[in-house]
Amino acid sequence: MNTRSYVRASSGTPIGPARRSLLAAALGAAMPLPALAQATPRAPRNVLATVAMVGDVVREVSGGRIRAETLIGEGVDPHLFRPTRSDIARLLSADAVFANGHRLEGRMGDVLDRVRAAGKPVVLIGESVPRDRLRANPDYPDAADPHLWMDPSLWSLAAVAAGEALGRLAPDSREAFADNLARFQARLARLDAYAKEAIATIPANARVLVTAHDAFAYFGARYGLEVESIQGLSTEAEANLAAIEGLVRKLVERRVPAVFAETSVPDRAVRALIEGAGARGQRVALGGNLFSDAMGRPGTYEGTYEGMIDHNVTIIVRALGGQAPARGLNGRLAA
Ligand SMILES: [Zn+2]
Repeated sequence: MNTRSYVRASSGTPIGPARRSLLAAALGAAMPLPALAQATPRAPRNVLATVAMVGDVVREVSGGRIRAETLIGEGVDPHLFRPTRSDIARLLSADAVFANGHRLEGRMGDVLDRVRAAGKPVVLIGESVPRDRLRANPDYPDAADPHLWMDPSLWSLAAVAAGEALGRLAPDSREAFADNLARFQARLARLDAYAKEAIATIPANARVLVTAHDAFAYFGARYGLEVESIQGLSTEAEANLAAIEGLVRKLVERRVPAVFAETSVPDRAVRALIEGAGARGQRVALGGNLFSDAMGRPGTYEGTYEGMIDHNVTIIVRALGGQAPARGLNGRLAA
């Protein structure tokens, strides 16, 4: 059923600002809709981000001047995410939707088209990054590897695009957004320097990052880690036995001490690697859960972009035999 035509039929008028609360009621939204911008021009705008990494950029750059919420929650895989009816209502009631793009939100294309058709901006901040900084996506020749946030220097570029789009939504706040952006970029530069320094302490043989799915190519390229994954760039394909066997061989040959699970991907295949290496006499630890395509719980340090990358860097470095403080760059990681 087409949700929009359903609403039109039941309310009898096209959807407009005054109709939005009716839209929520008509759709039987399970979750309360965010407060909506009223007719007054100074009212804060309401932005909905698809993934938490994008939502964090919007929050940092808007500094509270624009209401920013995130659709896809903790531990949820955006490659597989299909919006529910109430998600669609939230997307259509936002003043703008911010997404990563590059097919990360692979099953949301139709909904994002509907948001555009309703005259709302859909801002794909990952697609603002210059082509020569992008990595190929073997699954889709016309798209790039979407996992840009894994390299803070690229995410810093995406934040610029977010700032420009926010400035178009709230022109009065342009100066404040520029200041917030500069502060955020300075923190990203510091995070990048920490990652570089800490990862360089990992012994050369162990500079291999083995994860569940291929989210870490930008990360590996930036910091000099060889990256291997059991699944491809998207989590849609099943892991295959040959891939697992090849990875076990590499773990044993290189004496890699740890492999990593991801919070948004089941860890079955990662455990198979550990068992396979164990059967060949190589003890491989589960280095921990990395945040790949989802961040930690909202309200925690790991629920921020900075905390997400700090967590990943710190546990990777420590599990692979390098040196990093247990509580990370800012002493704020959960013990
Ligand atoms: Zn992914």
